[in-house]
Amino acid sequence: MIVKKKVYYADYIYYNNKIHKNSYLLTDRDIIIGIADNIDDSSNEYEVTRYENSAIFPTLINTHTHLGMSLFRGFADDLELMTWLKDYIWKVEKKYISEEFVHLATLLSIIEMIRSGTSTANEMYFYPNATSKAFTEAKLRVIIGFGALKSVDNAIESIESFKTTNKIRSALCPHALYTVGKEGVKQLIDYAKPRDILIHTHLAETVAEVEIVKEKYGSTPALIIDEIGGFDCKSIFAHAVHLTDEEISIMGAKNVNVSHCIDSNLKLASGIAPINALDSSGANITIGTDGAASNNDQSMLSEMGTVVKIHKVISNNASVLPAEKVLNFSTTNAANALGFTDTGILAKGKQADFFVLSFDSAHMTPVYNPISHLLYSANNNDITDMVIGGEVIMKDRVILTIDEEFIKSEARKIAKTIKI
Ligand SMILES: [Zn+2]
Repeated sequence: MIVKKKVYYADYIYYNNKIHKNSYLLTDRDIIIGIADNIDDSSNEYEVTRYENSAIFPTLINTHTHLGMSLFRGFADDLELMTWLKDYIWKVEKKYISEEFVHLATLLSIIEMIRSGTSTANEMYFYPNATSKAFTEAKLRVIIGFGALKSVDNAIESIESFKTTNKIRSALCPHALYTVGKEGVKQLIDYAKPRDILIHTHLAETVAEVEIVKEKYGSTPALIIDEIGGFDCKSIFAHAVHLTDEEISIMGAKNVNVSHCIDSNLKLASGIAPINALDSSGANITIGTDGAASNNDQSMLSEMGTVVKIHKVISNNASVLPAEKVLNFSTTNAANALGFTDTGILAKGKQADFFVLSFDSAHMTPVYNPISHLLYSANNNDITDMVIGGEVIMKDRVILTIDEEFIKSEARKIAKTIKI
């Protein structure tokens, strides 16, 4: 049987990081093979899907998640980070989480990912096999973190026996310097570096964290991470809120990957990361939602919507971090940071990973610049379709790979049993 090449028409296609009007995206199985203004369909070689009054964008990549926490969404709010963690989150986690719990919570999060045009997560949580199962079912991409809150040896043993695929990969995740300790983090970096394993950790999230680290080690978190080689290996750092000018220039010079988690930082009053300065100095900026309990949603659209505005007001400059740059934080920059280098851009030879943005609603009308609409006007309901590796994941707002209604009803049932 001849497999037809799938071709997708849209009014706008963000191809090779440029907008092409009234074009066709050409794919062959899981790969993009080009773009064309017109196609000759007389040969019957193509199967054409038309997205009228729409744009095709590369899927978004969320570089810092705790997807397995989504069943704690809204459980404890309006608290500062350490109180929130110690008095609420760590207590319910200890009491309730299991393989089944994390599987269900991850599926619930994946629904939010798909609806916000997100194909890929950089996940840090417990029960990696449950996470892997959820992502395999949904057919999305993920880097699963092998966490070390206590035992470094255990994280190393677990990552060694974990089965990866093209879509499901692994990382080592020391939670943070203040929880794992300098020696523990160094041990993981030393293990990861020669094996080219990604290190994914929290860095300088709060003033309190910086003070704890200074008291214990006589230096600041970013300088210690630099001292133990964390900026000289494949690594990504979530938050990076409290940095000195010296730390910003070191991170810039070493092109360090940063996951900017603005909604979580705002909600927990952690501060605003110096993203414009980091970006200007050479750091590779990406965007993460953090967990649903500290955000409280996992929409990359709303996250980008905050990022694109907040740095303008703190710089008193409306031209800082324009819309397209913020989009690229979530696509090309993120793909490079995580090593998913065959994604993050629509270009010849890359994976056919894209979502479709509709301009049908009043708040999306008229269209002068589709990128502006994606960053400043769109919400999740404007995303109608998603394709990952050439496979249709969502069609006309219906998710095809997992059962959305069943997952939501199971989540409501479990929530009734959760108490401190
Ligand atoms: Zn986090």
